[in-house]
Amino acid sequence: MTAHLAPVAREALLPTARTWLEKPPLEPFIDGSFRSARSDEQLPVVDPGSGLTVSEFAAASAQDVQDAVAAARTAFDDGRWSELDPEVRERKLHRVADLLEADAETVAQLEALDTGKTLAETRMDVDEAVAVLRYYAGWASKAEGSVLPAPRQYAATGSREPLGVCAAITPWNYPLPILMYKLAPALALGNTFVAKPSEQTVLSTAYFAQLCAAAGIPDGVVNVVPGAGSTGAALTAATGVDKIAFTGSTRTGQAVMRAAAGTLTRVSLELGGKSPQVVFADADLDAAVEGVMVGIWTNAGQVCVAGSRLVVDRRIHDDFVSAVLSRTGELRLGHGLSPHTTLGPLISRAQRDRVAGLVDQAAAEGAEVRTVGELPGGEGFFVAPTVVTGARPGQTVEQEEVFGPVLTVLPFDDEDEALRLANGTPYGLASAVWTKDVSRVHRFSRGLRAGTVWVNTYGVFHPTLPFGGVKASGFGRELGSAAVDHYTELKTTVIGL
Ligand code: NAD
Repeated sequence: MTAHLAPVAREALLPTARTWLEKPPLEPFIDGSFRSARSDEQLPVVDPGSGLTVSEFAAASAQDVQDAVAAARTAFDDGRWSELDPEVRERKLHRVADLLEADAETVAQLEALDTGKTLAETRMDVDEAVAVLRYYAGWASKAEGSVLPAPRQYAATGSREPLGVCAAITPWNYPLPILMYKLAPALALGNTFVAKPSEQTVLSTAYFAQLCAAAGIPDGVVNVVPGAGSTGAALTAATGVDKIAFTGSTRTGQAVMRAAAGTLTRVSLELGGKSPQVVFADADLDAAVEGVMVGIWTNAGQVCVAGSRLVVDRRIHDDFVSAVLSRTGELRLGHGLSPHTTLGPLISRAQRDRVAGLVDQAAAEGAEVRTVGELPGGEGFFVAPTVVTGARPGQTVEQEEVFGPVLTVLPFDDEDEALRLANGTPYGLASAVWTKDVSRVHRFSRGLRAGTVWVNTYGVFHPTLPFGGVKASGFGRELGSAAVDHYTELKTTVIGL
């Protein structure tokens, strides 16, 4: 089919990206190849920057999910992957990373078209995916077991074994990096895999699956079942899955956990957030303004760790807010594939309407709402960057994850109040504190209830740094050596001497 592309996309897309869009509809990837879905349901691939449907894909049915799990099960049970020498698995994962690196621009373009993100952001996403793959490729040959200090009449070891079939259910905001946080450690440690990407962003996951095949990952080791919530629900209900790694909203996470109880499948949940950035008057305020900019406008605020609550010393409140507004005025809203764009659209019409509704509600409840910049014309799903001041603590806009370019500002008078405000939501994903007082850094970091505390910086992710939440933001850690524990089982072997 011919893709209906906005002029900016038509101009920007490489022939390789266009071909990928225009080939026959995307389909489930099972046992090493794309195959016709066992349902007639076609779902659209929408360009959020123009509102146009640029392609479509076949949604995987419950039967397709069963087939994918069965393929992954067989591939695990016959040892075609788990029983390879670790350095062979390591080499093959590096080969996948090589291929992804070689196609980086094509993948970044497809991702920008599919998610609405700017090309600068999706290039970073591809780089991060490659880095995570390479980091875990190395773990294949380095994940050691232990010799256990058993009584002297025994020799005992603790060895790491793969779990079996690991499933991933991923959201639309960072399709490729979040897939990699799960797939890379799972494969490095000998597991097989079934991925269910968000129905809003299937392109990069499908593209990645074919790279795995091209890199010589054996058939059945990586499977992809594109589809909406019903496909995800079929995966969480399937028997034969040993672990479900979920990233998405808190509400869907609860549904995943309930479903997993039925099959006693272990789960890890990376959920929503409402992360505070706490700025003290003694901070390097220029740096703090930049940190706030990165924290809230990256990916138009559609980031689990969006620093959507600015908790700021009342004495500097007005000047600091003015500085943020002034820098925000430099952003250029537009299509993600335009080289001039620094702030893209939201993922969908529904998400744009939801965010606009929350902003209207904040204003109706008495907060002061300031928007900055011009909305581009056309049918894209844009929301102008918005700063909300004068909100009451407890008001919806400062408690609920907005998932859009909306920053809520809360003033504080002393450190105790700052900490109360910072911790005062159901979430606990990330947080930041800006201060030059080293004692306060330690005191305040200790008091913050969040999986990550950034001090005088924001949004730093790296393969070596474990990431995850507390409270309604979920549990389990991805990245770093922490993930090695989540994708292996410890076996104790005791030998009578
Ligand atoms: P979502 O919860 O709507 O969907 C996430 C995934 O779950 C999608 O693939 C979706 O199809 C699937 N799904 C929907 N219903 C399901 C069901 N009943 N059973 C199984 N799967 C089902 O989330 P979203 O809107 O795609 O993403 C935004 C959310 O993700 C935000 O809340 C954001 O904070 C969160 N998020 C968290 C992290 C993190 O690391 N903590 C990272 C990125 C995004």
